[in-house]
Amino acid sequence: MERWIMHVDMDAFFASVEQRDHEAYQKQPVIVGGLSNRGVVSTASYEARSFGIHSAMPMVEARRRCPQGIFVAGNHGLYKAVSKQIFHIFQEFSPLVEPLSLDEAFLDITGMEKITLNQRDYAKLLKKRIKDELGLIASVGIAPNKFLAKLASDLDKPDGLVIIERGLEQSILRDMPIRRLWGVGKKTGEKLQELGFRTIGQIAQASLDELAKYLGKTLSYQLIELANGRDERKVEPERDIQSIGNEITFEQDLLQAAQVEKQFLALAEKVGWRLRLSGVKARTLTIKIRFASFQTITRSQSLIEPTNFDEVIYQMAVNLYRQVKVKESIRLLGITGSNLSLHEEESLFQEDQKKKALYHMMDDLKARFGENIITKANLIQKPHNEKDLPKG
Ligand SMILES: [Mg+2]
Repeated sequence: MERWIMHVDMDAFFASVEQRDHEAYQKQPVIVGGLSNRGVVSTASYEARSFGIHSAMPMVEARRRCPQGIFVAGNHGLYKAVSKQIFHIFQEFSPLVEPLSLDEAFLDITGMEKITLNQRDYAKLLKKRIKDELGLIASVGIAPNKFLAKLASDLDKPDGLVIIERGLEQSILRDMPIRRLWGVGKKTGEKLQELGFRTIGQIAQASLDELAKYLGKTLSYQLIELANGRDERKVEPERDIQSIGNEITFEQDLLQAAQVEKQFLALAEKVGWRLRLSGVKARTLTIKIRFASFQTITRSQSLIEPTNFDEVIYQMAVNLYRQVKVKESIRLLGITGSNLSLHEEESLFQEDQKKKALYHMMDDLKARFGENIITKANLIQKPHNEKDLPKG
């Protein structure tokens, strides 16, 4: 399968959060950073950037360039909390998310276009989710590898969406300045300038042996590979994923138990699928219910054996739901699997081996024909007091 990597980077992250939360800051030059005389700028809003202010600039200089600016010390706790919300959304778009900082990540979206939309619409959907739910703007780059994806997200900032198609790698890179190459900082940049390199295209043509004399073999090899648009590095998710969950907010509140259970099935199928894609099983399952009054409850249960089977997740969710005293209509439902185990333990139950083969086949069909091709959710029309649940 052709590899596709997405790089998402929030625009002027800290400053945008401040502008979002303070009406008086909107459309104003906002500078977040250390306010003391020795402080530096950590983020400048785009309005502030038009005064030539940028990250890492001494605060004194920023004040000189824009005395009328709004200078804020920033609220790191808040940015961290918002970052968590952003990554929550990322994880719904790919089981493989590699964080680079609070506001930046790689998502491996290989094969995703087959189960959902084309890459551009997929990226638009992600940007829309972030905007609608968090009131923030992200720039997205999509390319066959990490280096190009990161480059692409920066090409049309702010609010960018750039796709570098396979085969166009070299023509896009050719005339770009060498500092755009990953790993070229100030020192290496100066060295390359001295050696007469100005563009990435020139490095792409360089002789490895020649360059290695000045920069060493490892770095030289890396730079020439990148300059040719080649980058085999994998997206490496953080090893300690805590949980995998999905939730749905309904356009119209749900009144009937049968509707609720149908939605739990749809959620169970999503969560099960994501657990299987990530190669993990959940030992604890939690349901979340938000009522029309916004009162929110969660109920959890742990399993004897961890699972990533849709119907086990579904049955447990329904059991938990049936124990809840429901007095009003429901506006949101969620299922989360946590207490995840990474490695494949042999199942205690033989039955599970058969199920595993079945799920393998189902996931393969989903990958080829779309996520909704096999769904049990549409089939359930039974009232909730009937005991028999759909069979896998
Ligand atoms: Mg950013």
